[in-house]
Formats: sequence, C-alpha cells, structure tokens
Amino acid sequence: MNTLENLSFNQERALIRVDFNVPLDDTGNVTDATRIAAAMPTIKHILEAGGSCVLMSHLGRPKGNDPKLSLGQIVPTLEKHLGQSVQFCNEVVGQKAEAQASALQPGEVLLLENLRFHEEETKGDQVFSEALSKLGTVYVNDAFGTAHRAHASTTVVAQYFAVKKCFGHLLAAEIKAIDKVMSTGEKPVLAILGGAKVSSKITIIENILPKVDHLIIGGGMAFTFIKAQGGAIGKSICEDDKMPLALSILEQAEKLGVKIHLPVDVRAGQEFSNDTPQQVFPINEIPDDWEGMDAGPASEKNFDAVVKQSKTILWNGPLGVFEFPNFSKGTRALGASIETQTAAGAFSLVGGGDSVAAVKLFGLEDKVSYVSTGGGAMLESLEGKTLPGIEAILA
Ligand code: AMP
Repeated sequence: MNTLENLSFNQERALIRVDFNVPLDDTGNVTDATRIAAAMPTIKHILEAGGSCVLMSHLGRPKGNDPKLSLGQIVPTLEKHLGQSVQFCNEVVGQKAEAQASALQPGEVLLLENLRFHEEETKGDQVFSEALSKLGTVYVNDAFGTAHRAHASTTVVAQYFAVKKCFGHLLAAEIKAIDKVMSTGEKPVLAILGGAKVSSKITIIENILPKVDHLIIGGGMAFTFIKAQGGAIGKSICEDDKMPLALSILEQAEKLGVKIHLPVDVRAGQEFSNDTPQQVFPINEIPDDWEGMDAGPASEKNFDAVVKQSKTILWNGPLGVFEFPNFSKGTRALGASIETQTAAGAFSLVGGGDSVAAVKLFGLEDKVSYVSTGGGAMLESLEGKTLPGIEAILA
C-alpha cells in the first residue's frame, strides 16, 4: 500500500481532501482553527517533497452557492498556519479550476471553493468525481471526519488514481489508533462506554465485546442494565425495551470472559438541573423521586482501579451529565485516571462527540494518547464497518 512517505511527490500535484469544516463567526472569521492546524503536516510534507497542493473541503451544509459558506473566508487563517500565500479558486471543477491547478509551481498551494456548493459531491456523482480527478496527479485523503461517507471527493474520485493515492498523516494516525484498540493494542484492553442511550451504542458493544478484556458501562446507559437486573433506579433515564438486550450483553460477556463494570453508586438529583439538591445512593436503591446524574465516589474508585490495570483504553461517552458542573465529578475523575495511566505508558484513545467535548473542557487533550477528530466516522469504525473513504484508498 502506498503511504505519504513512500510515494514521490516531486513535480507532482497532490489533490488533497482535507477537513476544513471549521466554525466561523458572523463576519467570516475562523473561531477554532484546530482542523486547519491538523492538516498542516500532510500539506507541508508534500510541499517539502517538491510537490504542489490542491486542497478541497466542504464547509457546513450549503444549499447551492452560499457566500456565507465560501471557503475563501478561511484563506487568511490557512496562510497564517502555512506561513506562505495560498491561491483561491472560486470554482470547484471545470476550466477555471483546471487552469489554476495546472499553473501551480512546486511549493504552491491552491484552495478550491466549497465542494458542497455542488450537490453532486454528496451524491458521489461519477462525472463530478472525474472532473475533480483532473485537478491533481496524486490523490491524498486526510479527512477522517468524512471517511464514512461515499462522497465524490472522499471516495469516488479515488477510482481515477490507480496507484498514486494514499492517506494523509491525520487519517493514517486515526486508522492506527483505532486498530490499536480493535486488534493490535497491548492487553488488557479496556473500553469505557458512557452517554445517554444503550440503543445508540449497541452495535459498538456487540462489535467490541470479543476484542476487549474489560468494559465499563457508565452514564445514563447504565440504568437500563441496573433496572434489568432488578435494581430501583428512581426516575433515572432508562430504555425499558432494551432491558432484555442488556441482560443478553451481560450473558455474552460472561461467556467471552469479558469483565463488565457497572457503577455501584450514583450522585442523584431531584430534578434535571445543575443546582438541584444532590445525594449519593447505591446504584440499585435510588428513591422514586431522585434521578441518577453522575457516577458516585465508590464507582469512581472502582473505575480508577480498572483503568490502572489496563494497557489499552478506549473512551467513548461521559459518565454523567458533565455539562452541569455539579454533576461532572465522575467524568472528570475518569479523565484524571486515564491521564495518569497514559503517563504510565498505556495507550488511550478518546473518541465520539461528547467525550471529546469533556476532554477539551477538562483540559486533557494533550494528556491522552489520541483524541479522534471524526465523530460519526469513529463510531462506525468501532461498530466494525469498513469506511468507504478508507476502502477507496486500499482498493
Ligand atoms: P451520547 O451522545 O450518547 O454519548 O450521550 C452524551 C450525553 O449523555 C451527554 O449530553 C450527557 O449529559 C448525557 N448523560 C450522561 N449521563 C446521563 C445521565 N445519568 N442522565 C441523563 N443524561 C446523561
């Protein structure tokens, strides 16, 4: 398989799918440039290897041509990160884009307009994909966040590059991080699944169960398991229709020799708010008018002990309603345990929307081994699906 390192970029024009779907303020300034910064290693590698770069991305969900979602607005931020000037083409495909692309000299960079100004992009249109392919001599995909979509720029365009195609640094790192958890990581492997609903994580649980040694189930999800086992959960969230499934997961885990860890106590509130009176109860003895909203202190201790014996750790989903500071202790404590264990040499991957938000909120981004940038793509990988954007490069 070709990689960024073994492909020659000398005199080549790399067509790179990046993820520049960044937040903008009302006047079009980039308010968080994390994704732009993250794309730099791949772009700089190609420029330093004697190539030029044609960058393509989507921004938001435009319906047709929408100046508020023009990628032209990000050029100053991109130039600042690259430390050089960037040309912009206000078209995506066609004569003008081809002329600008083919005029690029080694070391130069061209950014195309928002791919999603064309509905053909998300439809994975063949003609549009072929038109995109004319803009480069090598294709590089560095956008993990859209790798689970069979769009023109993420998947179909790759067909037009028989061998000259590879993953960028960012996408390669995401694939490696997920592989560590799913197959190559050092044992014991621990997965921590939290968040609101069992139903949204069920395919993940089923897929990872044979691959892990320990599974912590926390957050709102845990109450379906506790109630299914006969516990009193008060007015905590619960999916009654998923209780048989919860029991079968526990059974399956036992057969596979996977140790499941549920919370043993809970910080509960009388209503769903930050300032509601708070009390700790055993997880299966929550009074009728109380709602479990965070892992309790004994659970924190138990989870800490599990984290401290693990060599590979996946964390997806908070242990409580971490958005309320008064109910963020359990999630915060788990983050601190993972931080300590990572410092002691374990590999830790945090992925999926809300746990990434929690890690950012608690300032742990640099304290874990890897924070995944792709929410949906990460979840689909954990579900065991082959992502079309990844398959297209491997084909
Ligand atoms: P998910 O997107 O499924 O990972 O769920 C994340 C959401 O679950 C966060 O917004 C949390 O506030 C919420 N959550 C976690 N624990 C609880 C709980 N015990 N009760 C209600 N919501 C919860």
